[in-house]
Amino acid sequence: MTANNPLLDFTDLPRFDLIQPEHVKPAITQLLADGRALVDRLTADSTPATWADFAGALSDGLEGFGRAWGVVGHLHSVNDVPAWREAYNEMLPEVSRFYTELGQNLKLFDKYRALKQSPEYATLSAERRKIVDNEIRDFRLGGAELPEDQKPRFQAIMEELSQLSAKFSENILDATNAFAEIVTDETLLAGLPDYAKDAAREAAEKAGVEGWKFTLHAPSYGPLMQYADNRELRARMYRAYATRAAEIDNGYSKPEWDNGPIMKRLLELKAEDAAMLGFNNFAEVSLYTKMADTPAQVLDFLRDMAKKAKPFAEKDIAELKAFAKDELGLTDFQPWDAAYASEKLMQARYAFSEQEVKQYFTEPKVIAGLFTVIESLFTVKVKEDKAPVWHEDVRFYRIETPAGDLVGQFYMDLYARETKRGGAWMDEARSRKRAADGIQKPIAYLNCNFARPVGGKPATFTHDEVITLFHETGHGLHHLLARGEELGVSGIHGVEWDAVELPSQFMENYCWEWDVLQGMTAHVDSGEPLPRALYDKMLAAKNFQSGMMTVRQLEFSIFDMRLHYELTGKNSDPAGNKTVMDLLDEVRREVAVLIPPEWHRFPNSFSHIFGGGYAAGYYSYKWAEVLSADCYAAFEEAGDPFDPVVGRRFLEEILSRGGERPALENFKAFRGREPSPDALLRHSGMIAA
Ligand SMILES: [Zn+2]
Repeated sequence: MTANNPLLDFTDLPRFDLIQPEHVKPAITQLLADGRALVDRLTADSTPATWADFAGALSDGLEGFGRAWGVVGHLHSVNDVPAWREAYNEMLPEVSRFYTELGQNLKLFDKYRALKQSPEYATLSAERRKIVDNEIRDFRLGGAELPEDQKPRFQAIMEELSQLSAKFSENILDATNAFAEIVTDETLLAGLPDYAKDAAREAAEKAGVEGWKFTLHAPSYGPLMQYADNRELRARMYRAYATRAAEIDNGYSKPEWDNGPIMKRLLELKAEDAAMLGFNNFAEVSLYTKMADTPAQVLDFLRDMAKKAKPFAEKDIAELKAFAKDELGLTDFQPWDAAYASEKLMQARYAFSEQEVKQYFTEPKVIAGLFTVIESLFTVKVKEDKAPVWHEDVRFYRIETPAGDLVGQFYMDLYARETKRGGAWMDEARSRKRAADGIQKPIAYLNCNFARPVGGKPATFTHDEVITLFHETGHGLHHLLARGEELGVSGIHGVEWDAVELPSQFMENYCWEWDVLQGMTAHVDSGEPLPRALYDKMLAAKNFQSGMMTVRQLEFSIFDMRLHYELTGKNSDPAGNKTVMDLLDEVRREVAVLIPPEWHRFPNSFSHIFGGGYAAGYYSYKWAEVLSADCYAAFEEAGDPFDPVVGRRFLEEILSRGGERPALENFKAFRGREPSPDALLRHSGMIAA
């Protein structure tokens, strides 16, 4: 089977015309065995710790495995029929085990260190040096350098951290699931749109109860808080939501779901983890692999932005309260009125029909408009190309230089299907590198879930969907326009976590340019481009309450950073008795304009930082927005969103660099200075243009 297994054919494009689920097990089993044999050989004492014999050989030797497993993962995502799901799930544990082995193989660590200490290191290219440094860094963060007698404790900390994180999320889910608000009197549901009522009706039927059932899950809770006229109902739901997984008795909670003790323990363990690795606090551990350098730098950045956004947030809340009082009769404005009154204000001042907008974004125009943006910005050509595909909807394109040389290729799979995973995403099929016979060109997948065309008319997209398409294309261009010659830092490989969204968010800006929109819209019936009046409404709605939303994100970000800076190490509160809630209250006094009630337990359900990977990293959202807006501002300053000189510099200093040098250096090389939040504030309507 191995001899003619199409998953093992790496000569060019993946053989989507031939690959079947039954090819997975033999191919992946073979590649894993080859991979293990390779690692054994390369870590043997007899293998010299040189780039060619060791690091380069390892990267090249494992590439086929990565590509084949990438194809399997891709097919599992876009064609999730039982046979593919089974084939994927059967091999997933094997593949995970292999990666864990690699991460814990100290012989690999020793070889990388030997290479770093050898005279050859100084003669390596910047890319190769960066790969060696990254490998050593990751082994160190995994505890590889600890004295032998400390390793078991470190391992135990890692395990307890991951168990507690999982428990934190489970508690939120259990608490969320435990609550239900059953409404039997329909008049109490005044204001709710039909879809929300229908869903509540269905939920009640499913639960075998009369009436309408509302829960704390977002699709139920969100519309209720936004639309329900009944204030007591909103207040009850708000309190139930705000006290999930806390010590507060809210009528449905259980003491064992209280996340308070878990947070405390997580912070203790993170402090110990940081200390063992030689850091002052856990915030430093988190930032060690990120673009931002120090917790102080991140806090300065966040506070600077908060200072500038707060006056706008205060204006937003004052406007909202005045509207609630004058138009809705809510004289004593409460937090459970915020979403409700905001929705009403939005409708009164900025409403426009999404459906009307959608009629202008017809697929052929949008795709042509997207390609024109790419071609104008980066002086390339995008052309239709041919390849075996996994579904008849899939299109395939190539990017060429003006001279006609191939730069990269990509698949575009736009429409939703029952067997396709939700959302939109970019993935790589092959990365750029220098191979024995020349440069291997990158290949990407762009996947979306838009509605397919019906009734012989072209498909139409909402403006949000167009933004999504540009966003994912930005990730794709990061991969496809790479100049790297080494897999480990080519394209999106090795790019810091807080910088990865720069190209994607950068591309979103073009969806708001009037001239671009003129070129990429044509009404599905009349063929007319988007009218100016509609565009102006879209723009006004975009910045609705941006001040309030900005300070809210900053509140979470500053809280997260201070928590992991001040409560996990040497610079901890000297008295040692500051609690998580004390700290959050301090942050709120500094930046918030809408202060929740004293019993609100936001931290107990802040799963990004306690249950996920965002500890001391929540700021990344704002950080990446600032970077992308600031990059875009370079074009605005040049007076042309397609300025060829700025475009070339953006490509040269940021987009094509991949992970070969730190993202902050990329940024400074492009902008000639540190990032500034001014452009983002201006784009959000918070600075006079
Ligand atoms: Zn993204």
